[in-house]
Amino acid sequence: MKILLIATNNEHKFEEIKGILNDIPFELLSLKELNYGKEIVEDGKTFEENAIIKAKQVGKDTGYLTVADDSGLVVDALDGRPGVYSSRFGGENSDDYIYKMSLILDELKGIEDAQRTARFVCVAVLHSPYTNACRVVKGVVNGRIAMEIHGANGFGYDPIFIPEGYNRTFGELNPEIKASISHRYKAFSKIKNLLLKGGI
Ligand code: IMP
Repeated sequence: MKILLIATNNEHKFEEIKGILNDIPFELLSLKELNYGKEIVEDGKTFEENAIIKAKQVGKDTGYLTVADDSGLVVDALDGRPGVYSSRFGGENSDDYIYKMSLILDELKGIEDAQRTARFVCVAVLHSPYTNACRVVKGVVNGRIAMEIHGANGFGYDPIFIPEGYNRTFGELNPEIKASISHRYKAFSKIKNLLLKGGI
């Protein structure tokens, strides 16, 4: 079976992506399974730039058909922050999301519901090792930032993000709901269509 490399070390993300790409005729591998530990400097200014940097580097290093993504939380009242800095927000090496979410909630103190609009964005890039060509797709889920941290499902900023059409955070909602409406679901469904059509 052909191999498709998912350029992530994040197991949670890999599981989400496997769920979306479930019935394609490819064996899915993550960077962890290849022991690929190279640090890739994602110094792009946009999700697109970072996803392309990652896809090209990993594709070149491994020779596999590769999908890389870059995603993050964009908060309108913070002029789009944390955006491409979502994982580095509040400290380069901090994995403390209670702290990161508290920073956002503090900055939004006094701002009412209607002005707390936000979105999760995911840009996914499919890279062919044969032609070095990239196909770029994007998925967005709109919503707003909650007043407080709620729930423990998902990861990252999920406990403060309320998707449009719901009144609970991704941290509280059933993971199946997130899996069917998320930015990652939308972007990777497009990748799935490209792969099924042989579009690279
Ligand atoms: P990455 O580029 O996909 O690794 O994501 C960058 C950062 O965006 C993550 O480390 C999280 O902080 C945030 N993020 C991306 N997707 C999600 C999500 O589905 N839920 C919560 N946070 C997310």
